[in-house]
Amino acid sequence: MSFAGSSMIDPFGRSISYLRVSVTDRCDFRCTYCMAEDMAFLPKKDLLSLEELDRLCTVFIEKGVKKLRLTGGEPLVRKNIMHLVRQLSRHLESGALEELTLTTNGSQLARFARELADCGVKRINVSLDTLDPEKFRTITRWGDLSKVMAGIEAAEAAGLKIKINAVALKGFNDAELPEMLRWAHGRGMDLTVIETMPMGEIDADRTDQYLPLSQLRADLERRFTLTDIPYKTGGPARYVEVAETGGRMGFITPLTHNFCESCNRVRLTCTGMLYMCLGQNDDADLRAPLRASEGNELLSNAIDEAIGRKPKGHDFIIDRRTSRPAVARHMSVTGG
Ligand code: SAM
Repeated sequence: MSFAGSSMIDPFGRSISYLRVSVTDRCDFRCTYCMAEDMAFLPKKDLLSLEELDRLCTVFIEKGVKKLRLTGGEPLVRKNIMHLVRQLSRHLESGALEELTLTTNGSQLARFARELADCGVKRINVSLDTLDPEKFRTITRWGDLSKVMAGIEAAEAAGLKIKINAVALKGFNDAELPEMLRWAHGRGMDLTVIETMPMGEIDADRTDQYLPLSQLRADLERRFTLTDIPYKTGGPARYVEVAETGGRMGFITPLTHNFCESCNRVRLTCTGMLYMCLGQNDDADLRAPLRASEGNELLSNAIDEAIGRKPKGHDFIIDRRTSRPAVARHMSVTGG
């Protein structure tokens, strides 16, 4: 049974057209603000198979999802991930899906960039917080910047449009961000900065790392001319144009400016849990209805019920009095 033509509208009238799928909770990096060093990962047997992920995504597409982002963990470390990408690309060909994209740390891009482009992926987000190899190793705990750079080059050569995402971290990369901006724009890439969100226990104190982007913007405005523009990519970033570089810069501000009023997203984990909000704990189990029958009716009903519970928004706080994370799960569970 197909659910084509129906659409998912939440209780606040927001239409849900964007699905982010965390295909694995595993990652080849351990970014200090994202994960603890000794993370316990899910047993492989708990993961949905690639076929199950495809079936779930397909039902979402039939129910009105137009943009699908694969994330993680690191999506490109999931075994046979390109099989899923290739399967999903049929929805691009049919026109049911407008965009298939992914968020990656870039470490495996040299291997996969060409095939991604071949499958109809046009744009990707590469997460990169510093251009300094030593600092890169420190923040990722064991990442190799040269591999990421090779990945970016391979993606450029394959014709993929790249957006660099950097988490703004006080005392770590704030002084470097002007240089990163020039570097990204010099290569024709957008740069988006993100406020660190209180998700999951990490080994550091988030209060020390938190840099409000209102402050970063004020600092940047001493050197650059930033003009707000209405550009949108379907996500939460607000964009400015930078006169001196001719490039675009995005700001994702979950803390200083809540952007929930226009939220069009839900998030699926690799075990089939649906999170209706990145910053809330409520979830819906889609694995049970997926496995309960071969048809998709139970699944579709479970999705409708979950969308009916999508909350108005998140309420992240980072201050000295609020030491516990807003949500217990790490970003690697639901992805960026
Ligand atoms: N491994 C992929 C990558 O590195 O892009 C995808 C998953 S990663 C969890 C997605 C994004 O979330 C990355 O840009 C990462 O920097 C960001 N991120 C992780 N933890 C975060 C946090 N606590 N606050 C804000 N952004 C975070």
